Amino acid sequence: MSKAQFEQVTGFDVPRRMFLKTAAAFGVVAAAGGSGCAVSGSNAKAKIVIVGGGAAGISMAARLVRNLRKADITLIDPASLHFYQPGFTLIAAGVYRPGQVYRKQADCMPRGVKWVRKTVVAVDPARNTVTVEGGGLFPYDFLVLTPGLQLNWEKVEGLSLKTLGQGNVHSIYDFEGSQKTWPAIQAFVKKGGRGLFADTYTKLKCGGAPKKICLLTEHLARKAGTRQNVKIDYFTASKELYDVPYFTPRLKEIYKERDVSVSLNVRVKGVDTQAKKVFFNRVEKIKKERADPRTGKPVTVEETVMTPFAEEYDFLHLPPPQSAPDFVREAGLGWPEGKLAAEAWAMVDKATLVHLKYPNIVCLGDVAGIPTSKTGAAIRLQVPVAVKNLIALIEGRAPEAKYDGYAACPIITDYGHVLMCEFDYEKKPKISFPLSLLDMSKEQWAGWLLKVYVLKPMYFYGMLPGYC
Ligand SMILES: Cc1cc2nc3c(=O)[nH]c(=O)nc-3n(C[C@H](O)[C@H](O)[C@H](O)COP(=O)(O)OP(=O)(O)OC[C@H]3O[C@@H](n4cnc5c(N)ncnc54)[C@H](O)[C@@H]3O)c2cc1C
Repeated sequence: MSKAQFEQVTGFDVPRRMFLKTAAAFGVVAAAGGSGCAVSGSNAKAKIVIVGGGAAGISMAARLVRNLRKADITLIDPASLHFYQPGFTLIAAGVYRPGQVYRKQADCMPRGVKWVRKTVVAVDPARNTVTVEGGGLFPYDFLVLTPGLQLNWEKVEGLSLKTLGQGNVHSIYDFEGSQKTWPAIQAFVKKGGRGLFADTYTKLKCGGAPKKICLLTEHLARKAGTRQNVKIDYFTASKELYDVPYFTPRLKEIYKERDVSVSLNVRVKGVDTQAKKVFFNRVEKIKKERADPRTGKPVTVEETVMTPFAEEYDFLHLPPPQSAPDFVREAGLGWPEGKLAAEAWAMVDKATLVHLKYPNIVCLGDVAGIPTSKTGAAIRLQVPVAVKNLIALIEGRAPEAKYDGYAACPIITDYGHVLMCEFDYEKKPKISFPLSLLDMSKEQWAGWLLKVYVLKPMYFYGMLPGYC
């Protein structure tokens, strides 16, 4: 790789050896070893189709070609570029340039994998086939389901991907969107006004991202000396600002210290970009007395009440509602009931990552219906488990490797600090870096260095090629 290519990928002009040293200093290499990379080689034969070549699909493919000598592996994905999506936040904050967050998909594709540059339109899990746009049919013995998630912009009335940026409505959940956000934030802090930051009512990838861009905007206003002209409000659909108790108290404190108001239990319904108004529903659970139809006796029942209200803004940031891709729902691969059913998140066992109805499907990454955060960091630890279990299934053994729900969400609290939230299914802190020598319930400068300088090269050089 040339120095120029290296600079483009890493975002800083240092030799690769120095990156490896920095990574080792942060314990990234050690942590990588802890992710259980090693799977002994297997001669088992199977036709494997991987749907989606993002963080999860490419990492799976890389490990599978190394560990299955005789497998026939096809990866289907139409994308010509591979994005490091955590970098979108840093583009919107003026820290990364757009060209620093992607590589050509062809350069990420592991050797030995057949790449079909098409969009999957259907999966028939009863017949073990995948259909692509234009009609091609791909039979499989085993399916790796990793298409990520679908961004449903149109579920916010008045919003579409095409009109993003109009009326100063912005979103870092899109590459172009993140590029429009940076000049808009700069103009906003210069001019002053009300900045309104919201999240969404569905599960979303990197639930911390809307908080990061909110806090970075607040800090930018302070750096520009215009904080007194800027009002910043955060609206969340959740009942808490953050749902991992170890990190929540400090995050709440930060919002208070920085004079950012927090409104809980509110869902964005729509926007009027002309009038610069955002429409919300406040969601409340109320208790009501009513007669039990069987006994006639009074009983207390809980009802959900939605109260509409509107707020004016000068700058608005929001993520779109998110769901599993439509073909996952149509194939009957989503949860049929429960909290994960409405968005059709794939029905997988939360420990083994094997589909609960179709045991020849493993599923991981954002599409997986498991109770943890949808992050690349989570995928880094899902991949070794999914690989081991897929190989076990191919060899006719029971899938025994277990994923503990580990996820990480480095919440950038200002230019220079990150609250390094790492946790598992139990929502207990699970610190994987030697940064744990520091008090990880508080924001740290070392976390910022990790976020800005280490995690991206670690993604492209460690995780995607299946080394960590
Ligand atoms: C703004 C933002 C900030 C983030 N910050 C962080 C962070 O700080 N830390 C962190 O760990 N994570 C972060 N994430 C989340 C992380 O990027 C995702 O969790 C991760 O990329 C998901 O990987 P995936 O493989 O499941 O899906 P993706 O990486 O999205 O890949 C899905 C792939 O499937 C392909 N595909 C989709 N549909 C089809 C189809 N029908 N047919 C064929 N192929 C298809 C797509 O082209 C794509 O290549 C962030 C995300 C965003 C948007």
